[in-house]
Amino acid sequence: MIRLRLKPGREESVRRRHPWLFSGAVASRDGDGSDGLAEVIAADERPVARGAYSPDSQILARLWTFDGRPIDGALLRERLAAARSLREKVIPTGTTGYRAVNSEGDLCPGVVLDIFGDTAILELLTEGTEKWRSGLEEAVREVFAGKRLLVRQSGTGRDRGGAPLPREGGAQIEATLAPFLENGLRFFADVSTGQKTGFYLDQRENRVRLRALAEGRTVLNLFSYSGGFSVAALAGGARQAVDVDSSPPALALAREHRRENRLPAPPEDFVQEDVFADLRRRVAAQESWDIVVCDPPAFAKKRADINRAARGYKDINRLAMKLVATGGWLLTCSCSGLVSADLFQKIVFSASVEAGRSFAIAARQGAGPDHPVSLDCPEGEYLKGLWLMAAG
Ligand code: SAH
Repeated sequence: MIRLRLKPGREESVRRRHPWLFSGAVASRDGDGSDGLAEVIAADERPVARGAYSPDSQILARLWTFDGRPIDGALLRERLAAARSLREKVIPTGTTGYRAVNSEGDLCPGVVLDIFGDTAILELLTEGTEKWRSGLEEAVREVFAGKRLLVRQSGTGRDRGGAPLPREGGAQIEATLAPFLENGLRFFADVSTGQKTGFYLDQRENRVRLRALAEGRTVLNLFSYSGGFSVAALAGGARQAVDVDSSPPALALAREHRRENRLPAPPEDFVQEDVFADLRRRVAAQESWDIVVCDPPAFAKKRADINRAARGYKDINRLAMKLVATGGWLLTCSCSGLVSADLFQKIVFSASVEAGRSFAIAARQGAGPDHPVSLDCPEGEYLKGLWLMAAG
């Protein structure tokens, strides 16, 4: 365990139980951090917190306890069991895919666990939690018994600014697709090469809203990935749903999802294109859609990206808005944590001015209750969704 001594006057955020300890707050380090364990000491030598140590990250430690409690197997099991019991109350019937542990939101900073049917994917987001891998695996096997457990380590790579490392299986990964249900619909998470942990579980509540609105409507699904929104829309009686994405494997899986749910999958519903180019073409052709869904990847991954990201969001929304029929809907999303809800709404507003269209916000919908956000760490809230009704 390494001891991290704070600079004088820097214990306020720890006192407020903020789980991120930035390297700039630390005056000195002493001891051996190779087990990933850190103890945080105030300038006056009082111990104030314990957590997971990531020497190469700006967030030097993610803090797990603030009351002197050691981080051991019992604590890990307790935290996972609390996370599981929340899910038992909030996951809808007919749903076997959900986020079981959401990092800071479940007092498990740096750890995500997604369940897809019989498969559990443990994602270790920091170098510190990677060091705890065997203890975490053991706790997961105990609390979420009977699942095939896959582990993805993205911490070291992420801390050093690189791409996530490939996933490793406890056993060999025989099947790369893990089947699961969401509100009775059948999906696959691509657990070997897929994005995130293989499926965008955070959009479940928006898929539910779309399904309820879709009857008889046409739907244009931008940045579709594996077409979850289109499947929900078609299940709700949409007349047509078109997926646009630049990734061929994502579109192949989207086709598979339709087949699996016995929904129509004509070739023209799958468009492999850059969304910006596709939208310009559709605007030039004066297309009109009843519902447009726009759920791009995070345009801002670091602070320096925010201005460029804002321009990207504005452009994409301006074009998308031009396609929405009067009385129709635009669901527009941003999953950039660095773009606040307030800023996102302003960007969307200026897009509407440039598009010459007027919209009303009918609902704000982010991730569901299996993605809890700790009040201590509001940074955990990243997904913003605005349901905009086209008034004119
Ligand atoms: N809406 C999806 C998740 C979107 S993830 C869902 O609900 O499942 C972002 C997707 O955008 C990825 O599938 C990626 O392949 C795609 N993408 C990123 N940039 C793109 C671009 N410029 N044009 C088209 N697709 C893009």
